[in-house]
Amino acid sequence: MTTAIPDKPLPFRTSWTQSFWDGTKRGEFLIQRCSNCDTPRFPPKPVCSNCWSTDCREVPAAGTGTVYTFTVQYRAGVPAFANDVPYAIVLVELDEGVRVMSDMVNCDAEQVHIGMPVKLVWDPPSEDLTMYKFEPA
Ligand SMILES: [Zn+2]
Repeated sequence: MTTAIPDKPLPFRTSWTQSFWDGTKRGEFLIQRCSNCDTPRFPPKPVCSNCWSTDCREVPAAGTGTVYTFTVQYRAGVPAFANDVPYAIVLVELDEGVRVMSDMVNCDAEQVHIGMPVKLVWDPPSEDLTMYKFEPA
């Protein structure tokens, strides 16, 4: 007997994050830069955490960085991920200075380590949403 695997949950989109998700559909990973002090920020936020300015611009990140920290998931927290274990969840520091969390793909979870060079890859789970993940650079 086999049990159907449910669909994976998708990110919740808001008015603050919609332009970010529009960017991923074009193959761009957009980060915000404060128009007043140039501090980068991610995820999208209405206010700069450095100077409290509400003015910002969106710029595409290069898509490269290093693993800041990670964990390996050996047991699916929800049934939708049952076929993926074991897999690594990584917190990546992009070259622009912001930290981004996602899954590591295209490598064994046991090979992931702090300081590992990585790059973004695109994973479209549905027609209207393109997800991002990381792979070894
Ligand atoms: Zn600022």
